[in-house]
Amino acid sequence: MCGIVGYLGEQPAFPLIIKGLKRLEYRGYDSAGVAVIDTKGSLTHHRKKGKVDDLLAHVGDDVPTGHLGIGHTRWATHGPPNDVNAHPHLSGDGQLALIHNGIIENYHALKETLIARGHSFYSDTDTEVLVHLIAEVMKSSEELDLFEATRVALNEVVGAYAIAVVDIARPDELILARKSSPLVIGIGECEYFVASDATPIIEYTKNVVYLEDEEVARVSLSAGLKIRTIKNHRVTPVITELEMALESIEKGGYEHFMLKEIHEQPKSIADCLRGRLRLGHGTIRMAGIDDHESMWTEAKRLIIVACGTSWHAGLVAEYMFEDFVRIPVEVEYASEFRYRNPVLGEGDILIAISQSGETADTLAAIRMAKERGAHVFGICNVVGSSISRESDSGAYTHAGPEIGVASTKAFTAQLTVLALVAMRVGQLRGTMDPQQLNRLMVGLDGVPEKVEALLKKESDFKAIAEAYKAAPNALFLGRGYNFPVALEGALKLKEISYIHAEGYPAAEMKHGPIALIDENMPVFIVATQDAHYEKVLSNIQEVKARGGKIIAVVTAGDTEVARMADHTIEVLPAQDALVPILSTIPFQLLSYHIAVMLDRNVDQPRNLAKSVTVE
Ligand code: GLU
Repeated sequence: MCGIVGYLGEQPAFPLIIKGLKRLEYRGYDSAGVAVIDTKGSLTHHRKKGKVDDLLAHVGDDVPTGHLGIGHTRWATHGPPNDVNAHPHLSGDGQLALIHNGIIENYHALKETLIARGHSFYSDTDTEVLVHLIAEVMKSSEELDLFEATRVALNEVVGAYAIAVVDIARPDELILARKSSPLVIGIGECEYFVASDATPIIEYTKNVVYLEDEEVARVSLSAGLKIRTIKNHRVTPVITELEMALESIEKGGYEHFMLKEIHEQPKSIADCLRGRLRLGHGTIRMAGIDDHESMWTEAKRLIIVACGTSWHAGLVAEYMFEDFVRIPVEVEYASEFRYRNPVLGEGDILIAISQSGETADTLAAIRMAKERGAHVFGICNVVGSSISRESDSGAYTHAGPEIGVASTKAFTAQLTVLALVAMRVGQLRGTMDPQQLNRLMVGLDGVPEKVEALLKKESDFKAIAEAYKAAPNALFLGRGYNFPVALEGALKLKEISYIHAEGYPAAEMKHGPIALIDENMPVFIVATQDAHYEKVLSNIQEVKARGGKIIAVVTAGDTEVARMADHTIEVLPAQDALVPILSTIPFQLLSYHIAVMLDRNVDQPRNLAKSVTVE
């Protein structure tokens, strides 16, 4: 988590860093800070608990001048979110300033050693140890400049880091390094930009270098960009061209990024299908599968690893793969899977799902799977992200940047990609007959339009939100393909409204949660006309009998559920496997409107961050 920004060039660094931090604020918003060095070699340092706007208010008119600077927006791991723990952190003599994203696992041992050597610390963070360590290495040998000292110091560090370091004595130099946390360097004309992702960079340059694990970089206006590994091997920088458009990271007239992203779904799903769904040819083209065809036709088992919303997409995919491919599937939380001793090896395909492509636990699961001989197929949204680079093959979701912390369009794009993958593999293995495949392809092609129709019901969503915004608890129910949709609906409501919500398979309700139902409990239930329809009707009766309020997502034209429910929301008919892409959207919009009515910070809910790059 946390956002890192750096600038070295001819423009004033401070405004540029602030703008960049605002773009990265979705990554963490516990505190913000900047350090700017001017040409006379003086360092101005401002830090403040809270958001970037709180930092700006704190800085007031005392705007730092200088053309070299670093900035940070924090998602606290070590030490509470307060001014003192805010980054940048300084060395004891105030010579060095450092920002960090990640966790230094051996910080305690390093800190003890440094204290024994006379260092004293003012914060609770693991990060402060790093800046002292680099200062200590510099002190130990006059021959070591900041670049070398950082490189040497990092050999003693266990953990994850993306760092940027500046030295008062070197106003023409910015040092960077990464391991397991992302860092992108933008190369402009006589200027360099650094950030945790490309969003702060895109309006200045499209040329970027993605730093790899255990690489240390020096950018200097006089000497350019140099990269070495922490073991001191020279690395030739590879410049990549960004494809992102600036408009895609702005709100475009919507009140919140989340609402904009919900409304982008017809387009993001269509983008995800483009070039892959080849209706005229009766086939699906996915390079990540077609280039490794035998791997998929011979695979014995699929293991899906993910976290949060992506894990819910994985659960839907389990039903798809079982239906279309008839292959054993396991869906695992990456954070549990990686610490078990799973039976895993050749013949297994590990499908890793992550919007950011930087999720630390998912990345670790990938590495473990590769070591044990499994083939790794990554499904990510962010192009060039760590997971996309470390996977053996994969598919992008092409949803465009998702900035709202609560995932919406990335989830429906993940469901779309997973449907394509399951259909393509079913086709290759001959487990799907051509008529079934064709019907699903036509169905998938029609999904964007059906989403569009749902988004027009804005006033219905607002009315339902108004009726239930004061509820302290909510239950979300679904069966089959829509059970994960219930989990995702509950997660959405929790994340942004802070209302306690639970998602359950509708039939499981009888084994516990039914005890919670009374006239104050809203029960959101997916009751579309699928294989489980009749059973869900009975579950609705059970809720009704106990006085619960029923808000049901139904198939257009359904009258049966309408007779029992307090509110219904209609989705257009679709094949069972495709319904989750539609049925999840009412829950996104209901959560959104409830959160807005409760005056919550929808795009940046408390305690959360978008890209979970810590374990
Ligand atoms: N571990 C550091 C801290 O707690 C950095 C956390 C982050 O990545 O935001 O300050």
